[in-house]
Amino acid sequence: MSAAPQLTGRVVLPGDPGYGDAREAYNARVSRSPRVVVFCQDAGDVANAVRWATARGVELRARSGRHCYEGFSVIDAGLVIDVSDLHSVRIDRERGVAVVGAGADLLTVYDALGQVGVTLPAGSCPTVGIAGLTLGGGFGLLSRALGLTCDSLLAVEMVTADGEVIRADDKENQDLLWACQGGGGGNFGVVTSFTFKTHHVPEVSIFSISWPWAELPGVLQAWQAFAPFADERLTSLLTLKAESAGGISCVGQLLGTGEELRRLIQPLLSVQAAVPFSVSPSSVSIETLPHLRAVGQFGGLGSDPEQWTVHQHQAQERFKNSSAYAYERFDAGAIATLAAELSRAPSSRCLVQLDAYGGAVGRVAPDATAFPHRRALWSLQYQAYWNAPAQEAESVAWVERVRRSMLPYTRGAYINYIDANIEDWLTAYYGPNVARLAAVKAKYDPRELFRFPRSIPRAPPGAAEAPAGGARGEGATDERAAP
Ligand SMILES: Cc1cc2nc3c(=O)[nH]c(=O)nc-3n(C[C@H](O)[C@H](O)[C@H](O)COP(=O)(O)OP(=O)(O)OC[C@H]3O[C@@H](n4cnc5c(N)ncnc54)[C@H](O)[C@@H]3O)c2cc1C
Repeated sequence: MSAAPQLTGRVVLPGDPGYGDAREAYNARVSRSPRVVVFCQDAGDVANAVRWATARGVELRARSGRHCYEGFSVIDAGLVIDVSDLHSVRIDRERGVAVVGAGADLLTVYDALGQVGVTLPAGSCPTVGIAGLTLGGGFGLLSRALGLTCDSLLAVEMVTADGEVIRADDKENQDLLWACQGGGGGNFGVVTSFTFKTHHVPEVSIFSISWPWAELPGVLQAWQAFAPFADERLTSLLTLKAESAGGISCVGQLLGTGEELRRLIQPLLSVQAAVPFSVSPSSVSIETLPHLRAVGQFGGLGSDPEQWTVHQHQAQERFKNSSAYAYERFDAGAIATLAAELSRAPSSRCLVQLDAYGGAVGRVAPDATAFPHRRALWSLQYQAYWNAPAQEAESVAWVERVRRSMLPYTRGAYINYIDANIEDWLTAYYGPNVARLAAVKAKYDPRELFRFPRSIPRAPPGAAEAPAGGARGEGATDERAAP
């Protein structure tokens, strides 16, 4: 008879000195108290954790960078399998690949790759985990040039629901690799490492433009006609703040020279001022710099890598975010709706961010990877931040209100900007890929051990089979069964 499985690695229990930190999520709105957190030191620790939880019927969650907007990587009374100690980056320059530990944060990845002049198209926040980002897609300032993070993914090493360590690449378990390219974190097993194709990006040119808030209609018109169709080497983001914050800004990055960039962004520089005497734009800056320094600028770290300090895994602030996609340009009604919601926002820390798609993102077929929104022109992210708990209700309500107001003009949502309020979430996140994702789930995790309120079911909605019995965790609803 084999002995009952034991937890191995650094085990943290309630009452232990590190427990307070170990249970924290990046979003301070989330507060949960796991029964145990295990910081795994290798794939064997992950396998033991999976077997331990299975033997005791304890619910579990995988965790990397803790940035899940709804805090689904931490669970009350369950087991958190934390891979953040697996953060090595091994680079093979000859083959142009890097093997990245699933617990690495983006700054660790950018820094290690940048030392040898290569990089990965990934997100802009330095503390986001490579695991959640890649598994959900991964958009950033190199995306129109080089694709989503998941488009550079060549292989994963994963611990399955049976506690087996398997590999998925273009030769074995291809269906699992496909699902890991945008199918979302926490669904199929615990990834312990990712193998990526690397890209040679020594230098980039970046820009920043700001306008007075009153210019919103003209700026949005100009940006939407420009950003998704611009030179593929150029990716830009437009930030529309609440009217009380008084500004609109656009930042972007070109794989090219400053001169080229100034020429390319002319459509944004020549937006006609809507308000008499207003200056349009109010400021413009263009700079050419090593890519790693640009990462620091966009990540809010400043441009000198020697001075970078990041507070890993610390709860930062309270926020609520949601998302949607524009598949067509906005008409005057859509623009007026956005402006009206931003003028009614409960605080100056409410905003809408638009990320330009097209380019390399759009050249991939919607079913070539699990990430389906390849034909979108841009994503919208509705965001509200606050500190005082008393501001929570109105902030969350504003995000939901602007999301609903924009539904007539948008489709779908981005799994990495996960929002528990979206009702038709399976279709919104995965569109036509739902049935195939459910088949991968049924094959690799038939008992739905990896389960959370927005996890992929083993049977697609409408199929006769119900999800496996047992609780699905906090916030679970019956929406999954909705057609
Ligand atoms: C400040 C901030 C900035 C962001 N910027 C960007 C951006 O620029 N571009 C972008 O595309 N997204 C961005 N995001 C969204 C981000 O991609 C998602 O929140 C992502 O899921 C975070 O991954 P994580 O590993 O940090 O989070 P976690 O909370 O650790 O995990 C997220 C999900 O993945 C699962 N998971 C974690 N580790 C594993 C693993 N090893 N194996 C299997 N499943 C796992 C978890 O169970 C959970 O469901 C940002 C988020 C924040 C908070």
